[in-house]
Amino acid sequence: MTAQLIDGEAIAAAVHGEIKAEVEKLKTEHDVTPGLATVLVGENPASQAYVSSKQKRCAEVGIQSFGCDLSESATQEEVESLVAELNANPEVHGILVQLPLPKHLDEERVLRAIGLDKDVDGFHPINIGRLAMKGRRPLFVPCTPAGCIELLDRYGIGIEGKEAVVLGRSNIVGLPVSMLLLHRNATLTICHSRTQDLPATCRRADILIAAVGRTEMVKGDWVKPGAAVIDVGINRVWVDHPADREWICTASGECFVAHRKDESEKGGRRKIGVYCATHDKIYLKDQVPDDIEDCETIDLYRKYKLVGDVDFEEVKEVAGYLTPVPGGVGPMTIVMLLRNTLTSAKRAAGLVE
Ligand code: NAP
Repeated sequence: MTAQLIDGEAIAAAVHGEIKAEVEKLKTEHDVTPGLATVLVGENPASQAYVSSKQKRCAEVGIQSFGCDLSESATQEEVESLVAELNANPEVHGILVQLPLPKHLDEERVLRAIGLDKDVDGFHPINIGRLAMKGRRPLFVPCTPAGCIELLDRYGIGIEGKEAVVLGRSNIVGLPVSMLLLHRNATLTICHSRTQDLPATCRRADILIAAVGRTEMVKGDWVKPGAAVIDVGINRVWVDHPADREWICTASGECFVAHRKDESEKGGRRKIGVYCATHDKIYLKDQVPDDIEDCETIDLYRKYKLVGDVDFEEVKEVAGYLTPVPGGVGPMTIVMLLRNTLTSAKRAAGLVE
């Protein structure tokens, strides 16, 4: 292997420690406790898990969390009036609306309702607009893009004057990370689904940032020898479990592979279906009838692992630096959110611009 691995876990732990120390200082010297409000609408288990992990990380560094949960049937007005209340609460320095929202809600309107000075996700159109303009600075930078730049900086990888290629132009990652690279005087190329000859374009990069959501798309011969490659992608790929077998869905006749719940199982797993022991019937997860609640059921799962947008095995032989998945960009996102919340509290106290 030639590439030096960029250890996102270690950098995130270092940033976490710095934030904790700063939060303590802010409390003792200025009697200010940073506060982050999380708005969760509905009961999506993945969203609940994300919110609770953010709250746990807040507690670890001494940031106060305000958990605001609304039911799945909450109206647009209810969500917006909650956001308005949080905007007016001086103990709340950051507001995070967990996405996706239930389909009947207008996500963009909700995000726009968040006060600019509490937009710690950095997705408010004015913050994004400022990020796009020369000589202007947003109040907050979106967390995953900020994490990518932090990794480059902490590994001493220069950006100024370098050829940077960003694969992907999403509002969440590709576009804001491109703007950050441009502010740091990289010469920038942004690629997307209509770009012709992606391999040749990527091969120009001294810094290659992959954020496409396509499993292991970037191959070894797409990378310039010695380049720094930041892999933002998080893709699930199924892996075998010894107890996997084929099941036929009683409702639709579809065939699927899964295994019975295995409490000792390590790593990621996803619920695929349900076996109803009461009626000896099998269902795919989204085809389970409503009246199954009183029955004896056994959940059926598949194991998965997470891989990036970069073919790690090939690219590590060519690149100079490479982020692994997991353990690269992923751990940075949450610490950047904590840092934005701290910055917001300092700004509210008049300690930063
Ligand atoms: P997204 O909104 O789906 O955007 C994907 C981008 O990639 C789009 O700009 C799309 O082009 C481009 N693209 C898709 N297929 C392509 C292809 N075959 N060739 C060239 N370009 C292609 O995804 P995202 O939200 O930016 O996320 C990207 C990845 O990062 C995902 O794997 C996601 O899970 C991961 N992610 C990780 C973190 C983290 O904390 N580490 C945070 C956010 C996202 P068009 O614009 O032309 O459609």
